[in-house]
Amino acid sequence: MALRRKDLFVIIAFVFVVVASNTFAFLALAAAFIATEEEPAPMPESSPTLEQLPSLSDNTTPSSTPITNSYRTATTSGNCTLGLGPLMLINYNFRVNNDFIATRRSELVNVAERYGVIEGNPYNGAPLLDAEAAVHLNDMIKAYQAAYPGHNLETRSCFRSRGTSCGRLCMPTGTSDHHTGYTCDLIDPAYGTELDTSHLSHHLEWQWLKDNSYKYGFIDRFPAAWAGSSMSEPLNVDANGSTGLYETWHYRYVGIPAATAIATGQYNNGAYDSLEHYLLKTGKVTGLNPPSCD
Ligand SMILES: [Zn+2]
Repeated sequence: MALRRKDLFVIIAFVFVVVASNTFAFLALAAAFIATEEEPAPMPESSPTLEQLPSLSDNTTPSSTPITNSYRTATTSGNCTLGLGPLMLINYNFRVNNDFIATRRSELVNVAERYGVIEGNPYNGAPLLDAEAAVHLNDMIKAYQAAYPGHNLETRSCFRSRGTSCGRLCMPTGTSDHHTGYTCDLIDPAYGTELDTSHLSHHLEWQWLKDNSYKYGFIDRFPAAWAGSSMSEPLNVDANGSTGLYETWHYRYVGIPAATAIATGQYNNGAYDSLEHYLLKTGKVTGLNPPSCD
């Protein structure tokens, strides 16, 4: 009887070990499966590849401190164009540091709050703009609405504190025109929500902006003719003024006199100029790559 009881105990112990080990194996497999499911999904094929893709949202509410001077930024960076106000140049060669970006951000006004400009994508930068540029942006949007009743221009982003990181093109923090406080990406929502150069022919607003924005001090910042031979990394900001970018939606305030000269090609044989080339030809900078002002 004692022997049988012992046999029974051994059998029960054996069954317990088998069941326990199977259970453990099952749990381990389940954990592995769950861990696999939690891995980040791959980037979709159709994800934006150009500058509009942010690495970090920047949509916090800014200070509403009134701005009396359109440009007060301390030159906290080695960029020699920062004293040029609306003509300041920020690109892959003319960089700014984080101190500049933080200071500049605090100087801007919220065009959504002040003028009711619609921010179409709150996750892509913030609707912050230099006060002088904001007045002109509001006037420009009203002119567009008057030209095409029922239509509107929305911002997709204006100021960005961070650069962009994306697959094909990258705009590292410190190199983006969106750090200037003079820039907005613009789109008419009637033509969809994507900032896609290949849809140019369908977008009424981009041709209108190209033809009329200079009257309000804005320029097409990255016209096709100045994109250079290829859009590749690092961005092709060459010694003559190529930008390496082609973006029909990216508009930059430079003031009416400079915008008029750039749009009418005063220093480019009558053809639309790039900001870089204009600054070189007018002596505001003496070198683009490498950058210099003396
Ligand atoms: Zn842009």
